[in-house]
Amino acid sequence: MTAEASAPESRAFEADVAKLLHLMVHSVYSEKDVFLRELISNAADACEKLRYEAIGTPELLGGDAKARITIALDAEAGTLAVEDNGIGMTADEMVEALGTIARSGTKAFLERIEAAKAQDAGESKAGAQLIGQFGVGFYSAFMVADRVEVISRRAGTDAATRWSSDGQGAYTIEAASAQTAPERGTRVTLHLLADAKTYTDRYKIENLVRTQSGHVPVPISVIDKPG
Ligand code: ADP
Ligand code: MG
Repeated sequence: MTAEASAPESRAFEADVAKLLHLMVHSVYSEKDVFLRELISNAADACEKLRYEAIGTPELLGGDAKARITIALDAEAGTLAVEDNGIGMTADEMVEALGTIARSGTKAFLERIEAAKAQDAGESKAGAQLIGQFGVGFYSAFMVADRVEVISRRAGTDAATRWSSDGQGAYTIEAASAQTAPERGTRVTLHLLADAKTYTDRYKIENLVRTQSGHVPVPISVIDKPG
């Protein structure tokens, strides 16, 4: 693993991830709103993981013990970012978590797609029906974004890492400068597709947070980030 080096390193996605991404990028699934639920759920999971690890290692919390999730909207730049102050990821953890598929549910999802294709349902139509039935996780961001950037700093470490992909089969990973990274935790920035720019609308996002993520046990704030 050479992500500590300053030059970005390009890596191919595992075959199953590439398949899943192809489905997301070409998805005709109309309920694209679910991407936000998935990113918030990951952010909340990260806060919960930190809380759990901090039981044995309270130093991990530093001076910042209160979990929070911030959604930053930038209409001018056309970006939406979900940031948490949870456990964060090391470079190795990012490669593993965002470049491979460990989830049995996702494997089942891909198998169902293959089966549906075999019955001639058509890839994107089958995908559209199945995306709704399975939780599609992080990769659903590529339904609304043509570039996704993740900057993360693992609790208890100084090093931060930047992961970036256009969802076309490869991603880059490199060391991130301290200034661009969250103090602790993860920021996922979506560069929204032309037809998804409405996700920078504050009212729309606040509404989605309320309706999709009302049960999330971590406070969520929505802010307009000046361009
Ligand atoms: P799942 O949440 O079901 O594990 P996802 O596709 O949503 O699957 O996320 C894949 C993995 O990426 C997570 O299991 C986690 O390890 C990592 N991950 C994603 N978002 C974050 C985050 N905000 N903080 C820490 N880890 C994350
Ligand atoms: Mg998830």
